Amino acid sequence: MAFGGAAGRAAGWLLLCWLSALATVGRAAEWQAVQGGVVALSHPAVVAGVRVFGRSWPVHARAGGTVAWVGVDLARKPGDYPVRWSDGSTERLRVRQGRFSTSFIEVPRSMAEFDAKKLARIRHDQALLRAAARRPVARSFSFRFAFRPVEGVVSTPFGARRFVNGRPRAPHSGIDIAAPRGTPVRLPADGVVLLAAPMYLSGNTVVVGHGEGVVEIFAHLDRVAVHAGERLHRGASVGTVGATGRATGPHLHWGVRFRGARVTPDALLPR
Ligand SMILES: [Zn+2]
Repeated sequence: MAFGGAAGRAAGWLLLCWLSALATVGRAAEWQAVQGGVVALSHPAVVAGVRVFGRSWPVHARAGGTVAWVGVDLARKPGDYPVRWSDGSTERLRVRQGRFSTSFIEVPRSMAEFDAKKLARIRHDQALLRAAARRPVARSFSFRFAFRPVEGVVSTPFGARRFVNGRPRAPHSGIDIAAPRGTPVRLPADGVVLLAAPMYLSGNTVVVGHGEGVVEIFAHLDRVAVHAGERLHRGASVGTVGATGRATGPHLHWGVRFRGARVTPDALLPR
C-alpha cells in the first residue's frame, strides 16, 4: 500500500507520530556521568552483571533490583556508550567532559628529564603499580569512603592538565592535599595492602585494595606504617605525609583506580 495525495501524507504523518511516541515510551533509560566520575546505575530486576566500556562492573542486589557501579576514566572520550545488562537489556550512558584546571610546576631538571636508566626505573615502578592494582581482593566494598585520608588544602585538583617545567604531562590522576610533614594518613575504608614500596616519582607509595576492583594509592609518604599483605580497618594509619619522590613540598597524593579507570577519590565520599 502506498500513500498518495494530502490524505495519504496526513496518514503518513500520523503513523510517524505514533511510531515516535512508541519510541519515546519504549526508550531505554539514559544515564549521565562525567570524566573521572563513578556512576551508580540501577536496574529494576536482579541481574548477574553489566558491561560498559567493554568490561564488567560490580553489581549488588538491592530491594528486588540491582545497583551497578561504573568508573569513567578521566580521559574517556565524551559521548554515548552502551550499557549491556546480563538479562539482555541495553541502556545508554552519556559521558560528559570534566571541568579540569591547569597546573604548572617547576622541579629540578633531574626530576623532569630522565636518562635511560631513570626511565627504566620509572617503567619498572609503573609495572609494579599496575600488577598491584590488578591483584584480586576477596572483599565486598560498599563504594563509600568515610573521610579524606588527611585534612588540608587541595594543592593540585584531580584531572588537572599538568605542565612540568613548561612541558605538558599526563593529567593528574589523584588529589594532592597539602599538610605538614608527619601528619598521619588514615585509611578511609577497610582494605588490604597490595604494595608498600619506594618509587622514583611517587616516592614512598602504598596501594590498598578495597575489593570489587577499587584500589587506593597514597604517594609521597614520609614514613610508611604498613607492609604488603596486611589487612587494615578504616581509620588505620598507612604512614605520614611527606615529600618523597617528585614533590615540591609535603603533601599527600591520593588516587583511586576502579577496575583500571582513574577516578576522583572524592566520588566515593558521602555527598
Ligand atoms: Zn599528585
